Amino acid sequence: MQFDQVTQYFDKIEQASSRLVMTQYLSELFDKVPASDTKEIIYLIQGRIAPQFEGKEIGFGEKLIMEGISKATGFAREEVEEMFNKTGDLGNTAEEYMKKRKQQSLATEELTIKKVFYNLKKMSESTGIGSQELKKKLLAELFNSASPTEARYIARIPLGNIRLGVGDPTIMDAYAMIITKHEQDTLALEKKKAKSKKEEKRIEDEQRKLKVGIREKIEAAYNIHSDLGEIAEILKKDGTSGLDKIKITPGTPIRPTAAERLPTAKEIIEKLGTCAVESKYDGFRLQVSKDGDKVKIFSRQSEDITQMFPEIIEAMKTQLVAKKCIVEGEALAFNETTQEYYPFQVTIQRKRKYEIEKKSKEYPLNLFLFDVMYCDGENYMEKPFFERRKKLESIIKDGGIIKLSEQKIISDPKELEQFFEEKIAQGLEGVMAKDLNASYIAGARKFAWIKMKRSYKGMLDDTLDLVIIGYYSGKGKRTEFGLGALLAAVYNHKKDTFESVAKIGTGMSEETLAELEGILSKITVKIKPARVISELIPEHWVQPHYVIETRADEITKSPMHSCGKEKDTNGYALRFPRMIKLLSDKKVEQATTTEEVINMYNIQKRVAMDNTEEK
Ligand code: AMP
Repeated sequence: MQFDQVTQYFDKIEQASSRLVMTQYLSELFDKVPASDTKEIIYLIQGRIAPQFEGKEIGFGEKLIMEGISKATGFAREEVEEMFNKTGDLGNTAEEYMKKRKQQSLATEELTIKKVFYNLKKMSESTGIGSQELKKKLLAELFNSASPTEARYIARIPLGNIRLGVGDPTIMDAYAMIITKHEQDTLALEKKKAKSKKEEKRIEDEQRKLKVGIREKIEAAYNIHSDLGEIAEILKKDGTSGLDKIKITPGTPIRPTAAERLPTAKEIIEKLGTCAVESKYDGFRLQVSKDGDKVKIFSRQSEDITQMFPEIIEAMKTQLVAKKCIVEGEALAFNETTQEYYPFQVTIQRKRKYEIEKKSKEYPLNLFLFDVMYCDGENYMEKPFFERRKKLESIIKDGGIIKLSEQKIISDPKELEQFFEEKIAQGLEGVMAKDLNASYIAGARKFAWIKMKRSYKGMLDDTLDLVIIGYYSGKGKRTEFGLGALLAAVYNHKKDTFESVAKIGTGMSEETLAELEGILSKITVKIKPARVISELIPEHWVQPHYVIETRADEITKSPMHSCGKEKDTNGYALRFPRMIKLLSDKKVEQATTTEEVINMYNIQKRVAMDNTEEK
């Protein structure tokens, strides 16, 4: 199919006044595109050159596109850049210059979808020496043959900025519209001839059901096979009956399910009855598929992020006993020194394209698996959650970085509340309650999962001044500095003691770590200083002497820390403490007191309750 025909539709879609109008134009376009070009057209509309999970990025630099425009039109690069700076859109810039181009290449040919797609694909795949020249040549070929409107899209697509505003649901709607068109037309005729209002209504209902049914079928296929290009091609060739051939395959991501929220334990139990309640880990969600030795890791957006996590690839090969499977879990960076999980801000540093090895040593991950969707030829998505969990338990070998999410079966709201408080105290985000009988509902938010989190408004926005009472030597890279984490305390002014409240492993730059080790190593003591109250034992005790300013996400109840701890009650702790700076002008008795921490906790709790009531 000619690219020109396609861009005429793109132009209309770009200007469509409503989603319905846009869907109509799209369906007209899809109807005209032959099966052999269908995949390509879908990817181009998505601004891609392959399905998302193949990880082939199309994004090129603006410079390259500007050079291409300059080369094809005979205008100076600087001139093109000036216009681009004015319009802010290279597509429009390309279009304008194409209209007034000074030179017409002899080597023009009519552009087809295939030609545009494959030149762009080759551009994205070319790397190494000479690749820049090749990219320019491939782009120039397209611009040389392009009309002004075609040039607009040829410039935008490689920038990853097609600006059509067409999302996947609209593409699916458009196909449902095409497939049902014939029947819809027949029904429309029937409706015209209808003899009563009642009959008219019956026909309308039928029309609606027809479209919804087809749309659901398309979406169900997409949910287990995130390649809309391929689905569209199948629809074009074989209609909806072709979708029956689509099966879950390791290597092709399933669209993830999502959680609903309910504010209280009572409401959760009312909704689910006896349910599974799990720790809610605050890292990033990974869908991992294994096919023999081939492991693939996908993000929540179904991007292929396999390369980012070498340790997970290895662990999947050794710890997962299934030959083929698709499992899901949450990955979190783990601090070996404090034996605690890092906050999200640290874990997120593992999502990177460069220095992967270095960061994987600095912030090793643990992966907590919580679901299995496919295992050795069997589709587990339809099976109830309790069965999926049993399967998951049976395919993980202990002893590595892959672990099972912590889970408890609960039917009493009080017990749920208690479990929630415990998890918060451990520095986790909250809990996730799961319907034991629900299937895995791909791509949707249903009450199969219900999350319960601390309210964000309840977050601590004040800093605390804490006293350093000990420190831990660093592991890995941090051994260089002799310091990996600090043990810090608040001041109990009634008892004149320093009560432990936080282990702080983040917030310090390499220079600060070295500086702190320098000053702390001078005041270490062999046994716990008399005024220090702490059940945690650091590798080195120090005399309470230095005060540091610390920020945390919130104050939680904790059995580990001594701040405010009475005989049979929990103490208080900081969640995700980060050191801000050393306060050289503060005496240790001027540090934040135990009483202040308790007050802050109570305020936080009231705010959280207010938030809940607001909802
Ligand atoms: P939210 O992002 O707040 O909507 O919560 C849903 C997310 O929680 C999921 O997408 C997962 O990334 C994450 N999560 C953490 N722990 C679990 C768990 N045990 N079960 C399911 N999801 C979890």
